[in-house]
Amino acid sequence: MENSNKLLKTVMHEIKKRKVAVKNVEMINPRIKKITFTGEDLKDFVSLSPDDHVKVFLPSGEMRDYTPMGFNNEDKELELAFYLHGNGPASQWAINAKIGDELIVAGPRGSQIVPYSFDWYLMIGDETNIPSMLRRIAEIPAYSKIVLIIEVEEENEAALLTDAKNVEIIWSYRNNNQLSSSQRMVEILKSLDKPEGNFFTWVSLENRETIKVKEFLENEFTQNIDWIKARGYWARRSSEVEN
Ligand SMILES: Cc1cc2nc3c(=O)[nH]c(=O)nc-3n(C[C@H](O)[C@H](O)[C@H](O)COP(=O)(O)OP(=O)(O)OC[C@H]3O[C@@H](n4cnc5c(N)ncnc54)[C@H](O)[C@@H]3O)c2cc1C
Repeated sequence: MENSNKLLKTVMHEIKKRKVAVKNVEMINPRIKKITFTGEDLKDFVSLSPDDHVKVFLPSGEMRDYTPMGFNNEDKELELAFYLHGNGPASQWAINAKIGDELIVAGPRGSQIVPYSFDWYLMIGDETNIPSMLRRIAEIPAYSKIVLIIEVEEENEAALLTDAKNVEIIWSYRNNNQLSSSQRMVEILKSLDKPEGNFFTWVSLENRETIKVKEFLENEFTQNIDWIKARGYWARRSSEVEN
């Protein structure tokens, strides 16, 4: 689901395929594995926006989208963080990843830049959006307030690697909850004590859930529908769809 937002400035990049190898692995929560890759090809890697993505070409030939959570051209490093949901080839590859394993990454093809001139920022996402959230927290000026609403499976995953003073985090748990992801998010939004001023909102959940949250934001929450960037990050199979 692409966004057609008039506020966003898009910068296109030359697409390069880069060969990279695992340099380090680290669990940043019980189900998210940060993998640091290295390789000569990373010397000119470019990513201008925290919600950029690269195409990861798995050894099987399949491709999946991942967020460049960090990169360093001098050290020729790239960090990706994989949510280990367990079912798909990318998640499986990450579960087994060890130092020296190789991958090809391509892109980012373009970066969509949101101005950091809003009074506050609202980010709504699940585990797949945590890499982007962490990068954005580091970029947004400290005088702007940031509200994160993050869905994870259960309480022991409710830890985000930030001590930024301008960040408020509200956790939403799937575990034992009869409501759908979007229903839980809407409940939280309805009771949110909004900070003062203009705000920009990002939403990235499962595709259908993202659409539902976006509809609520547009109809009942936002000041301006151009101040929302919504993009589904993964697709539940039709046999698994919540009503
Ligand atoms: C712009 C963009 C950036 C992204 N960045 C990241 C990132 O930095 N880190 C990250 O972990 N993911 C990220 N994702 C999401 C990731 O691309 C998907 O979760 C992808 O489907 C994983 O591929 P897979 O091979 O593991 O599973 P697939 O083969 O795609 O799916 C297999 C099964 O797993 C289920 N599934 C897939 N993803 C999830 C999930 N998140 N939760 C529960 N079930 C799931 C599917 O419904 C399906 O039933 C991003 C997606 C986009 C569009």
